[in-house]
Amino acid sequence: MKNIWTCIILVMLFPPVYKEQEKKEVLSTPLPVAGNLFIITTDGFRWQEVFTGADPALINSSKYTPDTSTIKMLYWAENPEERRKKLLPFFWNVIAQKGQVFGNRGYQNKVDVANLYSISYPGYNELFTGNTDMYISSNKKRNNPNINVLEYLDSRPSFAGKVAAFSSWDVFPYILNTKRNNLPVNSGYNNIEEGTTYQQLINTVQQEVIYDKKPTRYDQLTFLTAKEYLQQHNPRVLYLGLGETDEFAHEGRYDLYLQQASQVDRMIAELWHWVQTTPGYKDNTTFIITTDHGRGSKASNWTAHGEFISGSSQTWFAVIGPGIKPAGEIKSNEQQYIQQMAQTIAHLLGEEFSITAASPVSLH
Ligand SMILES: [Zn+2]
Repeated sequence: MKNIWTCIILVMLFPPVYKEQEKKEVLSTPLPVAGNLFIITTDGFRWQEVFTGADPALINSSKYTPDTSTIKMLYWAENPEERRKKLLPFFWNVIAQKGQVFGNRGYQNKVDVANLYSISYPGYNELFTGNTDMYISSNKKRNNPNINVLEYLDSRPSFAGKVAAFSSWDVFPYILNTKRNNLPVNSGYNNIEEGTTYQQLINTVQQEVIYDKKPTRYDQLTFLTAKEYLQQHNPRVLYLGLGETDEFAHEGRYDLYLQQASQVDRMIAELWHWVQTTPGYKDNTTFIITTDHGRGSKASNWTAHGEFISGSSQTWFAVIGPGIKPAGEIKSNEQQYIQQMAQTIAHLLGEEFSITAASPVSLH
């Protein structure tokens, strides 16, 4: 009896989380709909660098940044706002002017993964299926039993054949389960066979020039392949999954991690410029940019991530596109989760994904 009363009191004091989510869905304003949507992720890139630029403890460490002086010339400034602009100019000169950026914990604006593990497969599963799955706890190449929003969209008449995914990491065909859905997913060092001369050139580089093939392809090759496909096939939904930020962090190379983040920023800028100069895409395309997990928040553990490394669940996201208010960096006390992305992706295209998926994010 006593236990029942304890339960009742606890529920009154701490209402279950889903209550909060239901309330949010009612309160949040509908998301603006555009004709096309690009989702871009850069693996394991920390919110700390997004919002404060290079970390002083890591850029000044000769262990993690071998040529400290050159890297500081490129990415250092005393003021964090200047510093982040040096690292990610497109982010802070364009998205922060025209779009919205979430996850600055300096203002208690929080974005996290909802899964327990804070590693890649569970993170991408959450992002694309709108739920966590406690049985997805490793990065093993196993076909995902959960339905993802990309295959859902591809099953809709107005999106059929208009959804494509490109990733550096070679586990994506399993995460998105191409065996079940036949989505075009180009990952790792896979070639695109019926391509243009330009695509054949990329194939040649992949097969004959890259001799140290790892599970994560060079991001530049993923980017070039995606851009060529975009120009040839005009998909409405494009996923670009970049992976080298995580690779360099695991190697403990803070200099290369920064350099890669800066290149990712440039790739996004190039895509945005292409979109804004191409009929059909111009003023009709939304970008969502995010990551699959955080990393350790200290100088002693930033190279790693996982359920026992604090900071690993902490992420961020950015949105830019027609109808998105230019609210810039969001500074209000809020909590959002990566599992909300799947329904967000659907709503931004005027579609409704599975009713069991977490409610979409609240934009400002
Ligand atoms: Zn990793």
